[in-house]
Amino acid sequence: MPQTKSPETIAASNGIGSDTSYGAVTPPLYLTSTFTFAGFDQARDYDYTRAGNPSRALLADTLAKLEGGAGAVVTATGMAAVDLVLATTLEPGDLVVAPHDCYGGTYRLLAARAAKRQFRVAFVDQSDEAALEEALQERPALVLVETPSNPLMRIVDIRATATRARAAGVKVAVDNTFLSPALQRPIGLGADFVIHSTTKYLNGHSDVVGGAVIAADPDDVEALSSWSNTTGVCGSPFDAYLTLRGLRTLFPRIERQQRTASAIAAYLERHPKAAVVHYPGLRSHPGHEIAKTQQTGFGAMLSFELAGGLDDIRRFVGAVEGFTLAESLGGVESLIAHPATMTHASMGEEARRIAGVGERLLRLSVGLESEEDLVAGLERGFSALL
Ligand SMILES: *Cc1c(COP(=O)(O)O)cnc(C)c1O
Repeated sequence: MPQTKSPETIAASNGIGSDTSYGAVTPPLYLTSTFTFAGFDQARDYDYTRAGNPSRALLADTLAKLEGGAGAVVTATGMAAVDLVLATTLEPGDLVVAPHDCYGGTYRLLAARAAKRQFRVAFVDQSDEAALEEALQERPALVLVETPSNPLMRIVDIRATATRARAAGVKVAVDNTFLSPALQRPIGLGADFVIHSTTKYLNGHSDVVGGAVIAADPDDVEALSSWSNTTGVCGSPFDAYLTLRGLRTLFPRIERQQRTASAIAAYLERHPKAAVVHYPGLRSHPGHEIAKTQQTGFGAMLSFELAGGLDDIRRFVGAVEGFTLAESLGGVESLIAHPATMTHASMGEEARRIAGVGERLLRLSVGLESEEDLVAGLERGFSALL
């Protein structure tokens, strides 16, 4: 019996030393669009890069092992990964149940495809059990979960949701971008699909956009691969190579980043000019207990509301140091974002209001800088408030 390797070992070493041509320690990058046939009617493992490529396949294999799935498909972006799950699972008229506070791009995609009548969508507060139960009564074909949610870090109980959905014959897809398999493994909790924007923690260096879908069932892996080849949403081999390079250090990065995030959350919670702090590691967080049962850490994302108005947001963002004003997350550098005018602008004001994304909310992605420097940088922001 081969010994099952621990996730840290898989991340650091999956595919290392597997090159049979020259014995390269690092798996080679196959920059090719096409592959030779060995002879007439003798296709090799790969024939054309849209259908398959060894560099992309190694990343997919590593992600599938880390998430405990049967296989994975690597896509060009996280949005392509979400769309691939929709294309694979839905028929016209089907209903998708999605979080009312989901990632802005996911919200836009679901709303746009629903407007074209490709399926129906119900945006639901999934942390509200009664609301979720009611949505399941409508016999959806797919439940899309994001936990922790963006930007309010609400926690959805994956195990309970998957159990209920399974009883109703509904597939469950969990967007695991905010934690990565280092901190949460939804398939082990009952999910059918795990979605990633590999742009974020998995690559971790803010220099690639990419995505992936991991499936628990080999038939679903087959269907995802087939749709990926049909629609051409695959990721490039070079991006896959870079993402695997980033993934090698996923565990030490996220461990350090969440330690700093936790200290920053505690600092903000004590700060008189921060009104509310959303971080699942805080005992005051409504999802804290569920997070403890399904996550192995609380992650490095948090958000908080400033006491004050929009002018104060402007002053704070202008004066804060150590956090760069930009969308995205999960990189080695710390970022600050104002969801209402940035990541969640495309949702529209009404949908933002329902989701609870107010204009005083700021989101932080905590990187690898020292805790001391980051706290000092935030203090600069606070001291600019009147
Ligand atoms: C960024 C993100 C996406 C979209 O990924 P892209 O790589 O930007 O296309 C989807 N879901 C979540 C939770 C994200 O943070």
